Amino acid sequence: MSSNPQVLISEVGPRDGLQSVKATMPTPAKLSWIDALYASGIREIEVASFVPPKLLPQMADATEVVRHALTLPGLTVMALVPNLRGAEAALKAGVHKITLPVSASAAHSLANVRKTREEMVEEVRRIDALRRDIAPHVKMEAGISTAFGCTLQGAVAEDDVVWLAGAVIEAGADESGLSDTTGMANPAQVRRIFNRVRAEIGDKAGAAHMHNTRGLGLANCLAAYDVGVRTFDSSLAGLGGCPYAPGASGNVVTEDLVFMFEAMGVKTGIDLNKLIAARAPLMAGLPGEPLYGMTPESGLPKGFVQELAYV
Ligand code: ZN
Repeated sequence: MSSNPQVLISEVGPRDGLQSVKATMPTPAKLSWIDALYASGIREIEVASFVPPKLLPQMADATEVVRHALTLPGLTVMALVPNLRGAEAALKAGVHKITLPVSASAAHSLANVRKTREEMVEEVRRIDALRRDIAPHVKMEAGISTAFGCTLQGAVAEDDVVWLAGAVIEAGADESGLSDTTGMANPAQVRRIFNRVRAEIGDKAGAAHMHNTRGLGLANCLAAYDVGVRTFDSSLAGLGGCPYAPGASGNVVTEDLVFMFEAMGVKTGIDLNKLIAARAPLMAGLPGEPLYGMTPESGLPKGFVQELAYV
C-alpha cells in the first residue's frame, strides 16, 4: 500500500528564508516552525547558516537550532557554511550535512564571499580534509549558485557551470546541485545544464534550487525532474531570496511544489494539509511578513486525495 517517497523536498526556509528577511525570528518560534515542518513529513531541513552573527544576526542561534533539530528522528539536519570556519562550527554543532555555495559567476563570487571561484574550490578541499578529520560521516554538498545567470555579470557560461561542478566534486564534495540564485532560469536551459552536469559528475549531481522571481520556479523544477533530478530545495510560503543578488526574491513555494508532485502521482512523503498548517507558526514568528503560495490560497481541489508514502 505504501511506497517510499520518489522525490526529496529539502526545506530551506529556516535558513534561506529567514536570512533574507529584515526581522529576526525569535529562537522558540524557529523551533516551533521546524517542528511543524517535520510533522508534515519533511525529512530534510536546512536549519541554519554558520556565519558571523555580526553579518547575519538572524542566524546567531544556529547552534541552538541545530541542537533542537537533531532531536527529531529521521530528519537530515543541514546547515549552510560559507567557508572553513563556518564548516568547523557546523561540524562541531553536529549537523548531518553541510552545504557550501560556490558561485559560477566570477562577479557574484567576489561580491558574496570575497573569493574567486578557484579559491572556493580550494575551500571545498580544506573543508573536506577537516570533515574527514573530525566528522567523516557528515555529507558535504557544494551547490553551484548563479548557475543560470547573474544580476551582476549577466549571462553565466554553461561551460563554467559544468567545470565548477566537476571541480568541487574533484575537491571532495559528495554532491553538487544547481541554484537559480537570481531567478533567471528557463526550463530549456534547466534541462540542458542539468544534462551536461550529470554527464560530467553522474549521480553526484544534487538538488535543484529554483527561484520564482519571474514565475518559472515550478516549470524549472519540473524540467529538472524530467532530466532525472530527484531533490528539490524550496521554502515554505516562498520565504527568502538572496541578499547579494538585488531583486532576486522568492524561493519556490514548498506547498505548491509538493502539490504539483503529489497531483502528478510523484510521492513526496509530505502531508499537504499539515504542510499548510506549518504556515501558522511561521506567521506567528514573523508578524507582518508576506507569505506566498497559490495552493494555500486556493485550498486543495475538491476530491483531492493524498495517499501518503510514509504512512
Ligand atoms: Zn534560494
